[in-house]
Amino acid sequence: MTPEAERKMQFLFALRSKGVTDTRVLNAMEKIDRGAFVKGIFAERAYEDMPLPIACGQTISQPSVVGLMSQALDVQPRDKVLEIGTGSGYQAAILSQLARRVYTVERHRRLVREARELFERLDLANITCLVADGSHGLPEQAPFDRILVTAAAEDPPGPLLAELRVGGIMVLPVGQSNTVQTLIKVTRLESGFDYQELRPVRFVPLLEGLGQD
Ligand code: SAH
Repeated sequence: MTPEAERKMQFLFALRSKGVTDTRVLNAMEKIDRGAFVKGIFAERAYEDMPLPIACGQTISQPSVVGLMSQALDVQPRDKVLEIGTGSGYQAAILSQLARRVYTVERHRRLVREARELFERLDLANITCLVADGSHGLPEQAPFDRILVTAAAEDPPGPLLAELRVGGIMVLPVGQSNTVQTLIKVTRLESGFDYQELRPVRFVPLLEGLGQD
């Protein structure tokens, strides 16, 4: 086996051992090379199950967390998905393999510019990446079948709940920043919402307004 094939096998094995069992999610994570989303000295650690630094003081999430969130979101092939917090673009790239269309918004212009370049280079044509404060969601494209938030808020932001279709699912970390947060799954019912706690996680905070760069 080539070193590359062996690295990939270990990467997928680690995902499975952490509870990522959904075949579509595993296939997407096999296909999309995380190494393309990590730069410089950190690139060689791209296949380890750890978060890594990216530009603008942000992080690319741990692969097993990306897998578990994608799995909890239960994305269907016809779905229109909104992601808040593009960061490196890795999570959006995984979602692009599971959904019909992915909208991803990020408050740092530089991250949006770099993610767009990557999506073009990797030929991921069903992703639209925009500069915006995601705490308002993306009202002009609402409603969404699925919403994934990759930055932590104290509570699920009201506008995002409002942009979820009836029967739709939102997965997001909630809690105070710098403490342990909880990943929750919100399902929109005919009337009201169902809330389910999934696991403890740690994400950067969901911040108001746009970033400086
Ligand atoms: N999903 C990313 C991980 C991103 S880390 C990946 O796969 O790499 C969380 C990201 O959320 C950061 O890039 C941060 O800048 C962004 N963010 C924080 N608050 C935001 C907001 N209100 N609107 C949009 N993006 C936000």
